[in-house]
Amino acid sequence: MRVTVLASGSGGNATLFRSAKSCVLVDCGLGPKALEAALAAANEPPPEAIVVTHAHGDHFGHAGRVGRARDIPVYLSAPTSRAVRLPGVVQEFRFEMRDPFAIGDLVFTPLPVPHDAAQVALRVEDDDAAVGLATDLGEPTGALIDLFSSCDAVMVEANYDPHLLARGPYPEHLRRRIASARGHLSNAQTATLLGALPTRVHTAVLLHLSEQNNSPELALETARRATTARVEAAKSRGNTAFDVAREAPVSGAAAPPSSRTAAQLGLPFR
Ligand SMILES: [Zn+2]
Ligand SMILES: [Zn+2]
Repeated sequence: MRVTVLASGSGGNATLFRSAKSCVLVDCGLGPKALEAALAAANEPPPEAIVVTHAHGDHFGHAGRVGRARDIPVYLSAPTSRAVRLPGVVQEFRFEMRDPFAIGDLVFTPLPVPHDAAQVALRVEDDDAAVGLATDLGEPTGALIDLFSSCDAVMVEANYDPHLLARGPYPEHLRRRIASARGHLSNAQTATLLGALPTRVHTAVLLHLSEQNNSPELALETARRATTARVEAAKSRGNTAFDVAREAPVSGAAAPPSSRTAAQLGLPFR
């Protein structure tokens, strides 16, 4: 499976999953022209469907326009489809928050995660590999660790550094929202999640880094202390692409100690 992050962060999110037979865009925070340019720059084919994780503009904002312009279906969870309107989309498919669904040879397994909109993490699997994706969540849960533990690579947000958030330009109510259990993950929370995963997960990509309240250096340093997986940070604009197979790429790193359970980490199980 090839995964290409076309855009990541509060300015817009779009990640392309391509298997041998299928090509699906998860979240559509890029308009038709910007998406076309990003696909051309990445040398990737156009998607045959869009899957939306939740009803925030940086994730679903352009799904209707792109779905209509390209005449492709848009997949929404039941609560998201009640919250948004996608005029003119030819086909709109609803999925249940915990029920797997397939698009071509890609199988999507959603899982609700805590956020201030009905939000799902996704496990995306083809014949070769499984990749986990979770952006926009207030805290890691035991169920998310379970979902990610059967993945070969994971993509997870590392939204903010608490010190930068506290000193940053955001008003107090926004700072409180971001740091709440229904907001976003701090670098340390992301590291806790990565540290709880088994060595099967050989690659981690950090997403949705705040430009005001984080830096790629801080996020990477914190995550790399917690795991021996290869860790990269996605660019907010411009492609970040990687191929995923069951086998780790080349690794000289020693295996970390066996992962701890969610209960040992004091995480809620949802
Ligand atoms: Zn977002
Ligand atoms: Zn959100």
